Amino acid sequence: MTCNRRVFGTLLISSFLSAVSNQSATAFSARDDARQGFSRSGDDALDQAFIAELKRIVSVLNINPGFQYIDEMNSYSTIEVYIPGTKGTVFFGVPLIKMLMMEPDGGIAVAGIAAHECAHVLQYVIDIPSKLRTTSGSVTLLELHADFLAGYYIGRRNGDGSSSIIRLSSALYKFGDYDFKSPAHHGTPAKRSAAAEKGYAVAQNGGKLQDAIEAGMKYVKEL
Ligand SMILES: [Zn+2]
Repeated sequence: MTCNRRVFGTLLISSFLSAVSNQSATAFSARDDARQGFSRSGDDALDQAFIAELKRIVSVLNINPGFQYIDEMNSYSTIEVYIPGTKGTVFFGVPLIKMLMMEPDGGIAVAGIAAHECAHVLQYVIDIPSKLRTTSGSVTLLELHADFLAGYYIGRRNGDGSSSIIRLSSALYKFGDYDFKSPAHHGTPAKRSAAAEKGYAVAQNGGKLQDAIEAGMKYVKEL
């Protein structure tokens, strides 16, 4: 059981922010809490908009994860199934969503971060982690690849101009970190925003999902 929990915590969980996952004990307890995730945020308008966004994301990324809210300033994804009939699960922190929504065009940042988490599920499904995880166990390349795919999603999202990628790029810049020695390092602010912008460009050039997956892998490997 201890072993399973260790594997669950270190290999199959990705968080959006590195701050929590730097503290493995906290990350483990967060996962246990997440089993009691909830399906309504308490704000019906937010739920409606968020569900519509998630439907667009899973359509573009061609995945079928379950979704749950949690009461944390972070979000996570896992290949574990918590909702029957789905593949993988994404947990969104309501405090994180509400914080982002307080800023101008916050919905774009929320959309991009939701796409980042969903991109991790796609990575699990097509076995990207084995290709991008370094021998030291660092998740940085996986995180930047998820940022790349989040940018790709924003580029595929209907009705948005280039201001949308600028908004996502600045949100990711803010969430970058400089914890180079930590295996949970998610990428510097500049690298996170640049990865999303590159993914956006693939979409703008008419690239398909597979093009974005491969271009993203090539991009992060060359960093
Ligand atoms: Zn992530």
